[in-house]
Parts: sequence; C-alpha cells; structure tokens
Amino acid sequence: MNPPSTDDCLTAGNPLLSVELGRQRILNAVEVLPEKESVALHNALGRVLAERVISAIDVPPFANSAMDGYAVRCADCETNAPRLTVIGSSFAGVPFEAQLQAGQCVRIMTGAMLPEGADAVVMQEHVSRETDMIVIHDRTPCVGDNIRYPGEDTRRGDVVLTPGTRLKAAELGLLASVGVAEVQVRRRLRVAFFSTGDELVDVDTTPGPGQIYDSNRHTLHALLSQTGLECHDLGVIADDRDAVRTAFQRAAEIADLILTTGGVSVGEADYVTETLRELGEVDFWRMAVKPGKPLAFGRVQRAWFFGLPGNPVSVMATFYQFVLPALRKLQGETPRAPLILQVRSGERLQKAAGRMEFQRGILHCAEDGEWTVTSTGKQDSHMLSSMSRANCFILLPAETTLAERGELVSVQPFCDFA
Ligand code: AMP
Ligand code: MG
Repeated sequence: MNPPSTDDCLTAGNPLLSVELGRQRILNAVEVLPEKESVALHNALGRVLAERVISAIDVPPFANSAMDGYAVRCADCETNAPRLTVIGSSFAGVPFEAQLQAGQCVRIMTGAMLPEGADAVVMQEHVSRETDMIVIHDRTPCVGDNIRYPGEDTRRGDVVLTPGTRLKAAELGLLASVGVAEVQVRRRLRVAFFSTGDELVDVDTTPGPGQIYDSNRHTLHALLSQTGLECHDLGVIADDRDAVRTAFQRAAEIADLILTTGGVSVGEADYVTETLRELGEVDFWRMAVKPGKPLAFGRVQRAWFFGLPGNPVSVMATFYQFVLPALRKLQGETPRAPLILQVRSGERLQKAAGRMEFQRGILHCAEDGEWTVTSTGKQDSHMLSSMSRANCFILLPAETTLAERGELVSVQPFCDFA
C-alpha cells in the first residue's frame, strides 16, 4: 500500500486527503471474503446472501379472497339486487371442496381458497344475509373483484433475491414465503477492537485523577453488532509498547479486521503508530474531514486495520464514512448509493474552509411542511451527546464556509447506516 501521493492529497494549501479519495482507496484495497456457509433462516438476519434464490412456487400459491365476504359467479349477478343461495363456507386453511353452480355462493374469509366456479368475491358489507340466502346491494361484481391470483406476488421461476443482498426483515419474510428454509450466506466477518489510552477505564471501574470512562468500545460494539459481524472486544490497552504490541498480535490472529480508537494522531505516549510501522503495512492519513482528521488504514499481518481517532464523535463519523463501506464490501454486499437529501437549513451554519464537515443535525418537518435541518449546537468532537440528539449528518463541502438560513444543504440520515 502506498501513502497518499503528493499530487492528489498534498496539494498546495491543502495537504489533506479528501473523503472521496480516502474512501476510494480503502474500497480499492479490500476484497470480498470468499467463504460461504449455509444458515437456517432464523439465523440469517443481517447476513449477506451468497446465492441467487429462485422461487419454486407461485405466491400466492392458489387463488384466494382478499376480503371477508361471499364467493360468487358474476354471471349470476347481472340482475338488480341478485339473490344467491349460500351452499357452504371456505375458511383460511379449510377450503370448500365442491364446485359453485348457477345461483350459488360460498361464505369466504380473507386468505381462504376461492371455490371452483367462483370468479369474484363480494365484500360482506355489501350483502344482507337471510339464513341460507344473500342479497347483494348496490353493486354489480366484476370478474376478479377481491381475488388474489396465484403468482401475483412472485411467480415460479422468478429470481427472488440476488447475491449481495443483506437479509433484513422483508427479505427473510420473502424467503419464507417461497418456502426457503436455509440460505447460502457469506461467512461472518470477524472484527477485533480495542481502545488505547492510559486515561481510559471500563464503566465498572471508578476513574482515578485524569481518567475518563471508555465509551468508544461500547459505541463500536453496537456499530459492529448492527452490521451482523462477529465481534471480539479486547478491552482497554494501556499506552505501553509491549501491551499495544501484544494486543495487535492477538487481534491479527483472531480477526479479519482490527479496529482501534485513539493513538493515531502524533502524541508522545502513543505506541500505536510505532507498533503498526513494525507489525504492519499501514498508511497514516490526514483526512480533509471534520471530525476525524487522523485516520490509519492498512494491514496488520493478514488482518485489515483501521485506526480511528480517539474522540468519540470522530469514531462514529469515521466509522460510518470509511469503515462501514469497507465492511460492506468485505462481506460481499452489493454497493448502493448513499441516501443524501437536499433540505432547507433552519439556521445559519458556519465552518472554516479546507475540510469537509459532518455536522450533527436534527432533520424534522417544519410547520410549513418542508423538511428542515437544524444543528445540534456545539460541534466539538468529544461531545457524544450531540450524536445521540442528532438523526443525521449535515454534509458541508470542504470549500464551504457558510450556509445561510433557508439555503439547501445536504443531509445523510443516520438510518442510511443501518
Ligand atoms: P487520542 O487520539 O488518543 O489522542 O485521543 C483523543 C481524545 O479522545 C482524547 O481526549 C482521549 O481521551 C479521547 N479518547 C480516546 N479514546 C477514548 C475512548 N475509548 N473513549 C472515550 N474517549 C476517548
Ligand atoms: Mg490516546
């Protein structure tokens, strides 16, 4: 891996690597993990499909009723207020077995099989019932009314899902609807992560003077779990040469990808950079992005490596913008365009020129019905509460210094990262 070349990121006056270029380099480097495995549907949530699934059946498999009502023959209903004899019932799962003859109808429930001979269902609201007779009011049924035909949703032979699809609620239901009990998916990516810094303690320990709680590991654990990965939390590693080295070696043995937070900016007690130069092939980038300027990317032995900044908001922003696209590619997920919307800014937004900013925003529908974004307030990268209050990033390009109130700005809703 080569360090960013002078011509594309160290241009005069802007010696930083752009977000697009950084992301592109990462995506060019990582390759889809080749291994596949079979999993039962109830274990497949969040996994990436590794096969093309073709339906072996029509869905619905048989003509059935979309309403509670009466299955009729339209030819019997051409007179005013037609009267028909009720000859039986068809319930969901318990069909009526005989064929409908002239002048007859069958009581039918939603999802029940349409009896042979019937060609429409009249809703019960349009019918009055007298013992074994019905009268249809104010309505002339047409062929196909309230009938769901076989194959209307999916036909036998249709491609239901393609490789690279991440399996979520709709996809799992869809697979079940065509009777697929097991699917081939990509192997779950193994990710090891740890925090570095002498100032950090676990939430169950009382911080000493100058110490703070380690929040990044909890954030990372959540971000990784949401992405359907196998997580290995290696804890807090002190700013100590041997401890950092041992942690990296252990992580490289168990994981396909290593994530660390802290220690990638040049600080006196940071042994992360030193160890990485020794154990791996890693680029240390200064990204033209705020939050998240320092970012390390490369390999530690056979594992991919991301060194994220220490500040908690920078961790989330760089995870979403750089790590998540790589995780998706490694797992073979089909790339998709980010969900970026143009909405009105509810206030004047300011920034310095030079770095693209991911400001925390609250996207809401204003009283006049227009989607509007407001800032969460102070944007410092240690203020994690701003991430929790926000529901989107406001994307302000590197060269922008100002967006006036009412101006259109780009936002990326957090649901895009789910
Ligand atoms: P560093 O990149 O190690 O210089 O850290 C930058 C800032 O992030 C410092 O204020 C650290 O105390 C803070 N920080 C680093 N790691 C964590 C963590 N795991 N949880 C919370 N804050 C952290
Ligand atoms: Mg540190």
